[in-house]
Amino acid sequence: MLKKKIVIIEDEPDILEVLSYNLKREGFDVSHALDGIKGLALIEKVEPDLVILDLMLPGLDGLEICRRIKGGEKLKHIPVIMVTAKGEESDIVIGLGIGADDYVAKPFSPRELVARVNAAIRRAGMSDKQGRPDIVELEGLIIDEQKFSVTYHGNLIKLTATEFRLLNQLANHPGRVFSREQLLNYASGNDVVIVDRNIDVHIRAIRKKLPGEIQFIETVRGIGYRFIDVVGQ
Ligand code: CA
Repeated sequence: MLKKKIVIIEDEPDILEVLSYNLKREGFDVSHALDGIKGLALIEKVEPDLVILDLMLPGLDGLEICRRIKGGEKLKHIPVIMVTAKGEESDIVIGLGIGADDYVAKPFSPRELVARVNAAIRRAGMSDKQGRPDIVELEGLIIDEQKFSVTYHGNLIKLTATEFRLLNQLANHPGRVFSREQLLNYASGNDVVIVDRNIDVHIRAIRKKLPGEIQFIETVRGIGYRFIDVVGQ
């Protein structure tokens, strides 16, 4: 099998080394750049299966690189994982809004990073397929988009239209982080008027309706929410 290609753009040599070492050990074909301009050129040349992108970079910053990847037809399918420092929560939210797929915060464990990389590549492969799955099934939870219904261990769960849209959006992208702004956008369809624009309230209501051992929706502090990713862990 052809090795999956990853481009890392990171200006801190120590972090670059940790990233590179762990990803190579996982069998990825890794190349890197230490600044933004060279990094973007490398992405265009290699057309990798995934990009790991530091936000604070000389030359061209991470958000701008992400904007250019996601803004053009040629590269926008490539998943981008942002590498962020403490205190960059607002940049993370911007990054997710312009199409970044995920982020890892420094200091991160190599194991977590590898799990996130694998999950992002797997999701990218899934969205290549025609359409999206109509049914999500996980640990007793069944979300049926066609029927607009949710059951948990066989019991019908009554959700509002907004709650259904939120849960369905999150569940269709396990492990992917969504900001509150993004979720608000998904929740507002043409036919739905959201009375309460506070996403946290809707998420709390969904959680209440899905009692049990498993917390399906995880809170990502300072950023938003994500659906649990069992395979990626
Ligand atoms: Ca940096």
